[in-house]
Amino acid sequence: MKRPHILLIEDETHIAQGLIFNLELEGFRVTHVETGAAARQAFRSQTFDLVVLDLMLPDSHGIDLCSEMRQLAPKLPILILTALGKELDRISGLKAGADDYLTKPFSLDEFLLRLHGMLRRSAWYQPAYNKEEVYNFGSNRVDLKNLQATTAHGNIRLTELEGRMLAIFFAKEGETLTRAELLESAWGMAADTETRTLDNFIVRLRRYFEDNPAHPQHFLTVRGRGYRFIKESG
Ligand code: CA
Repeated sequence: MKRPHILLIEDETHIAQGLIFNLELEGFRVTHVETGAAARQAFRSQTFDLVVLDLMLPDSHGIDLCSEMRQLAPKLPILILTALGKELDRISGLKAGADDYLTKPFSLDEFLLRLHGMLRRSAWYQPAYNKEEVYNFGSNRVDLKNLQATTAHGNIRLTELEGRMLAIFFAKEGETLTRAELLESAWGMAADTETRTLDNFIVRLRRYFEDNPAHPQHFLTVRGRGYRFIKESG
Protein backbone atom coordinates (compact mmCIF):
# COMPACT_ATOMS: atom_id res chain seq x y z
CA MET A 1 0.00 0.00 0.00
CA LYS A 2 1.10 3.53 -0.71
CA ARG A 3 2.27 5.43 2.34
CA PRO A 4 -0.18 8.18 3.32
CA HIS A 5 1.21 11.56 2.35
CA ILE A 6 0.88 14.28 4.99
CA LEU A 7 1.21 18.00 4.33
CA LEU A 8 2.58 19.61 7.48
CA ILE A 9 2.17 23.39 7.56
CA GLU A 10 4.04 24.61 10.64
CA ASP A 11 6.52 27.47 11.04
CA GLU A 12 7.87 26.57 14.48
CA THR A 13 10.95 24.53 13.68
CA HIS A 14 11.20 22.53 16.88
CA ILE A 15 7.55 21.47 16.71
CA ALA A 16 7.83 20.62 13.02
CA GLN A 17 10.97 18.54 13.52
CA GLY A 18 9.40 16.53 16.31
CA LEU A 19 6.28 15.88 14.26
CA ILE A 20 8.18 14.92 11.11
CA PHE A 21 10.31 12.48 13.09
CA ASN A 22 7.30 10.80 14.64
CA LEU A 23 5.12 10.82 11.53
CA GLU A 24 7.88 9.16 9.53
CA LEU A 25 8.31 6.65 12.31
CA GLU A 26 4.60 5.84 11.93
CA GLY A 27 5.17 5.15 8.24
CA PHE A 28 3.83 8.39 6.79
CA ARG A 29 5.44 10.41 4.05
CA VAL A 30 5.71 14.05 5.12
CA THR A 31 5.99 17.23 3.10
CA HIS A 32 6.79 20.13 5.42
CA VAL A 33 6.28 23.82 4.60
CA GLU A 34 6.59 26.88 6.81
CA THR A 35 4.52 29.50 5.02
CA GLY A 36 1.11 29.87 3.43
CA ALA A 37 2.73 30.56 0.07
CA ALA A 38 4.74 27.34 0.20
CA ALA A 39 1.63 25.45 1.32
CA ARG A 40 -0.37 26.75 -1.66
CA GLN A 41 2.45 25.80 -4.00
CA ALA A 42 2.71 22.28 -2.55
CA PHE A 43 -1.05 21.88 -2.64
CA ARG A 44 -1.16 22.77 -6.34
CA SER A 45 1.59 20.38 -7.38
CA GLN A 46 1.09 17.35 -5.15
CA THR A 47 -1.62 15.11 -3.75
CA PHE A 48 -2.04 14.66 0.00
CA ASP A 49 -3.96 12.26 2.20
CA LEU A 50 -4.14 14.60 5.18
CA VAL A 51 -3.14 18.14 6.17
CA VAL A 52 -1.79 19.25 9.56
CA LEU A 53 -2.23 23.01 9.72
CA ASP A 54 -0.85 25.57 12.16
CA LEU A 55 -3.01 28.70 12.35
CA MET A 56 -0.43 31.41 12.98
CA LEU A 57 1.85 31.49 9.95
CA PRO A 58 4.26 34.28 9.02
CA ASP A 59 2.42 35.23 5.82
CA SER A 60 -1.09 33.83 6.17
CA HIS A 61 -3.77 32.94 8.59
CA GLY A 62 -4.41 29.24 8.73
CA ILE A 63 -8.16 29.75 8.66
CA ASP A 64 -7.92 31.24 5.16
CA LEU A 65 -5.69 28.41 4.01
CA CYS A 66 -8.11 25.92 5.49
CA SER A 67 -11.07 27.31 3.55
CA GLU A 68 -9.05 27.38 0.32
CA MET A 69 -7.93 23.78 0.69
CA ARG A 70 -11.43 22.71 1.66
CA GLN A 71 -12.83 24.23 -1.54
CA LEU A 72 -10.25 22.48 -3.69
CA ALA A 73 -10.44 19.15 -1.87
CA PRO A 74 -13.82 18.57 -0.21
CA LYS A 75 -12.85 15.21 1.34
CA LEU A 76 -9.30 15.92 2.44
CA PRO A 77 -8.87 15.50 6.21
CA ILE A 78 -7.53 18.68 7.83
CA LEU A 79 -6.25 18.78 11.40
CA ILE A 80 -5.69 22.23 12.88
CA LEU A 81 -2.86 22.57 15.34
CA THR A 82 -2.56 25.82 17.17
CA ALA A 83 -1.74 27.76 20.29
CA LEU A 84 -5.04 29.57 19.90
CA GLY A 85 -7.22 27.61 22.26
CA LYS A 86 -10.18 29.90 22.59
CA GLU A 87 -13.56 28.53 21.74
CA LEU A 88 -14.03 31.18 19.06
CA ASP A 89 -10.87 30.06 17.24
CA ARG A 90 -11.92 26.46 17.45
CA ILE A 91 -15.29 27.31 15.99
CA SER A 92 -13.87 29.38 13.13
CA GLY A 93 -11.47 26.53 12.33
CA LEU A 94 -14.29 24.03 12.15
CA LYS A 95 -16.41 26.48 10.16
CA ALA A 96 -13.56 26.82 7.67
CA GLY A 97 -13.79 23.09 7.10
CA ALA A 98 -11.26 21.56 9.48
CA ASP A 99 -12.11 18.04 10.62
CA ASP A 100 -10.36 18.15 13.94
CA TYR A 101 -8.56 20.55 16.22
CA LEU A 102 -5.68 20.21 18.68
CA THR A 103 -4.44 22.94 20.99
CA LYS A 104 -0.73 23.40 21.73
CA PRO A 105 0.82 22.08 23.85
CA PHE A 106 -0.58 18.69 22.94
CA SER A 107 0.48 15.16 23.64
CA LEU A 108 2.11 13.33 20.78
CA ASP A 109 0.04 10.23 21.50
CA GLU A 110 -3.18 12.16 21.18
CA PHE A 111 -1.97 13.80 17.98
CA LEU A 112 -1.15 10.43 16.40
CA LEU A 113 -4.40 8.86 17.59
CA ARG A 114 -6.44 11.66 16.05
CA LEU A 115 -4.48 11.50 12.85
CA HIS A 116 -4.98 7.75 12.49
CA GLY A 117 -8.67 8.19 13.29
CA MET A 118 -9.08 10.82 10.59
CA LEU A 119 -7.32 8.67 8.02
CA ARG A 120 -9.43 5.68 8.96
CA ARG A 121 -12.62 7.66 8.52
CA SER A 122 -11.44 9.24 5.35
CA ALA A 123 -12.60 7.66 2.13
CA TRP A 124 -9.22 8.64 0.73
CA TYR A 125 -7.41 6.15 2.85
CA GLN A 126 -8.54 2.93 1.30
CA PRO A 127 -6.49 -0.08 0.40
CA ALA A 128 -5.30 0.65 -3.14
CA TYR A 129 -7.76 -1.89 -4.50
CA ASN A 130 -9.63 -5.05 -3.82
CA LYS A 131 -8.01 -7.86 -5.77
CA GLU A 132 -11.28 -9.76 -5.99
CA GLU A 133 -12.95 -6.95 -7.80
CA VAL A 134 -14.34 -7.17 -11.28
CA TYR A 135 -14.73 -3.68 -12.62
CA ASN A 136 -17.08 -2.62 -15.41
CA PHE A 137 -16.91 0.64 -17.31
CA GLY A 138 -18.11 1.59 -20.79
CA SER A 139 -18.12 -1.60 -22.81
CA ASN A 140 -15.26 -3.01 -20.76
CA ARG A 141 -15.08 -5.64 -18.06
CA VAL A 142 -11.82 -5.86 -16.13
CA ASP A 143 -10.97 -8.76 -13.86
CA LEU A 144 -8.11 -7.43 -11.72
CA LYS A 145 -7.51 -10.66 -9.88
CA ASN A 146 -6.97 -12.73 -13.00
CA LEU A 147 -5.63 -9.85 -15.09
CA GLN A 148 -8.17 -10.41 -17.85
CA ALA A 149 -10.21 -7.83 -19.69
CA THR A 150 -13.08 -8.04 -22.11
CA THR A 151 -13.31 -4.98 -24.32
CA ALA A 152 -14.99 -3.81 -27.52
CA HIS A 153 -11.74 -4.72 -29.27
CA GLY A 154 -11.62 -8.26 -27.89
CA ASN A 155 -10.17 -10.11 -24.93
CA ILE A 156 -6.97 -8.81 -23.41
CA ARG A 157 -4.44 -10.34 -21.09
CA LEU A 158 -3.17 -7.60 -18.78
CA THR A 159 0.31 -7.30 -17.38
CA GLU A 160 0.89 -6.87 -13.63
CA LEU A 161 1.77 -3.25 -14.21
CA GLU A 162 -1.36 -2.62 -16.27
CA GLY A 163 -3.43 -4.24 -13.54
CA ARG A 164 -1.80 -2.10 -10.88
CA MET A 165 -2.30 1.07 -12.86
CA LEU A 166 -5.95 0.25 -13.60
CA ALA A 167 -6.57 -0.52 -9.94
CA ILE A 168 -5.25 2.91 -8.99
CA PHE A 169 -7.45 4.63 -11.56
CA PHE A 170 -10.51 2.64 -10.43
CA ALA A 171 -9.88 3.36 -6.75
CA LYS A 172 -9.47 7.07 -7.47
CA GLU A 173 -12.27 7.37 -9.99
CA GLY A 174 -13.01 10.99 -10.89
CA GLU A 175 -9.88 12.34 -9.20
CA THR A 176 -7.00 13.94 -10.98
CA LEU A 177 -3.91 11.84 -10.43
CA THR A 178 -0.66 13.68 -10.90
CA ARG A 179 2.10 12.21 -13.02
CA ALA A 180 4.27 11.96 -9.93
CA GLU A 181 1.61 10.08 -8.05
CA LEU A 182 0.94 7.64 -10.89
CA LEU A 183 4.62 6.98 -11.46
CA GLU A 184 5.23 6.51 -7.80
CA SER A 185 2.29 4.29 -7.02
CA ALA A 186 2.43 2.11 -10.12
CA TRP A 187 6.16 1.94 -10.79
CA GLY A 188 7.57 3.02 -7.45
CA MET A 189 9.69 5.57 -9.26
CA ALA A 190 10.86 8.87 -7.87
CA ALA A 191 8.62 11.69 -8.97
CA ASP A 192 11.24 13.28 -11.21
CA THR A 193 11.75 10.19 -13.36
CA GLU A 194 11.27 10.38 -17.11
CA THR A 195 7.53 10.53 -17.61
CA ARG A 196 7.23 9.57 -21.28
CA THR A 197 6.89 6.00 -20.03
CA LEU A 198 3.67 7.07 -18.38
CA ASP A 199 2.29 8.75 -21.52
CA ASN A 200 3.04 5.67 -23.61
CA PHE A 201 1.33 3.59 -21.01
CA ILE A 202 -1.81 5.72 -21.14
CA VAL A 203 -1.81 5.45 -24.94
CA ARG A 204 -1.89 1.68 -24.52
CA LEU A 205 -4.75 1.77 -22.01
CA ARG A 206 -6.74 3.95 -24.42
CA ARG A 207 -6.11 1.54 -27.26
CA TYR A 208 -7.49 -1.28 -25.10
CA PHE A 209 -10.45 0.41 -23.46
CA GLU A 210 -11.58 3.44 -25.44
CA ASP A 211 -14.10 2.98 -28.24
CA ASN A 212 -12.18 5.70 -30.06
CA PRO A 213 -8.66 5.99 -28.59
CA ALA A 214 -8.16 9.37 -30.31
CA HIS A 215 -11.11 10.79 -28.37
CA PRO A 216 -10.86 9.21 -24.95
CA GLN A 217 -13.94 9.18 -22.72
CA HIS A 218 -12.48 7.31 -19.75
CA PHE A 219 -8.74 7.99 -19.48
CA LEU A 220 -8.62 11.75 -19.69
CA THR A 221 -5.60 14.03 -19.87
CA VAL A 222 -5.61 16.83 -17.30
CA ARG A 223 -3.32 19.35 -18.94
CA GLY A 224 -0.24 20.23 -16.97
CA ARG A 225 -1.15 17.86 -14.13
CA GLY A 226 -1.75 14.26 -15.03
CA TYR A 227 -4.69 12.01 -15.79
CA ARG A 228 -8.19 11.31 -14.59
CA PHE A 229 -10.29 8.20 -14.97
CA ILE A 230 -14.03 8.63 -15.56
CA LYS A 231 -16.27 5.60 -15.31
CA GLU A 232 -19.25 6.92 -17.25
CA SER A 233 -18.45 8.31 -20.68
CA GLY A 234 -19.70 11.86 -21.08
CA1 CA B 1 2.92 29.33 14.10
